[in-house]
Amino acid sequence: MIPGEKDIKGDTQRLYGARPQIVGYSLHGNRYLNISSRCTLRCTFCPKFNGVWDVRGHDLRLQTPPTVEEILAAAGDPRRYREVVFCGLGEPTLRLYTLLEVAKQLREQGARVRLNTDGLANLTHGRDVTPDLEGNIDAMSVSLNAQNAAIYNRHCRPRSEGAYESMLDFVERARGFVPEITLTAIDGLSGVDIAACEGIARRLGVGFRRRVLGAVG
Ligand code: SF4
Repeated sequence: MIPGEKDIKGDTQRLYGARPQIVGYSLHGNRYLNISSRCTLRCTFCPKFNGVWDVRGHDLRLQTPPTVEEILAAAGDPRRYREVVFCGLGEPTLRLYTLLEVAKQLREQGARVRLNTDGLANLTHGRDVTPDLEGNIDAMSVSLNAQNAAIYNRHCRPRSEGAYESMLDFVERARGFVPEITLTAIDGLSGVDIAACEGIARRLGVGFRRRVLGAVG
C-alpha cells in the first residue's frame, strides 16, 4: 500500500468471493479504470445503491482494491484510446495516491487522463489536494448534481457536513491545476434546475454537461 492510501478492503471481499474483477473496460473509444467500489456519497439515483453494479455489461463490483501494477495492466496501451478515465461505481479519489501514481505513469506513456469525481477529495483527506493534480490530470468531471446544498443533500446523502460547499471550493481551487474542468448535473432528478447548475459552472469559469437520468456509462 502506498503511504497515505486509505485501506478500502471491506466486506465486499467476503461477500463476493473470488471471481475475476473488472478494473479496465472500454467504452466510446475511451479506456475506463475502476479503482474503487467505495463512495463518500450515497446517491439515491446510484445504480449500486439500487442493487445494480452493471455498466454496459461490465460488473464493476471490486472484491479487492487493485494495485498500481494491476491498474496499469488493465489500462493497456493508453495510446490506443482517446482518453483514460478514472471512473467506476466508486470514488477514485478515495485512493488518491494510487490514482496519482497511475495517472503519472499513464501520462508518461502518452495518455490523456480524465478524472470523474464527486469533488469531495479535500473534505475526505482533510487538506487541499488540488495541487497534487497538476501535471497528472488533464481533465476532470465533477458531479455538481444540484444548484444548492438542500437539493444536493437530498439526492446525494453525503456523510459529512458541508459537502456541497466543499465540492464547490474544490472546483475553484482545482482551476489552477487542471486544464479542463466540467461540472455535471442530471436532468430529471426532482428539484434539480439544470439552467441554474449551468449558471454555477459559468460563474466558476468551467464547462458544464447535462446528464440524463437513467443513462449509465
Ligand atoms: S458518487 Fe457516483 S458511484 Fe458514488 S454513490 Fe454517487 S452516483 Fe454512486
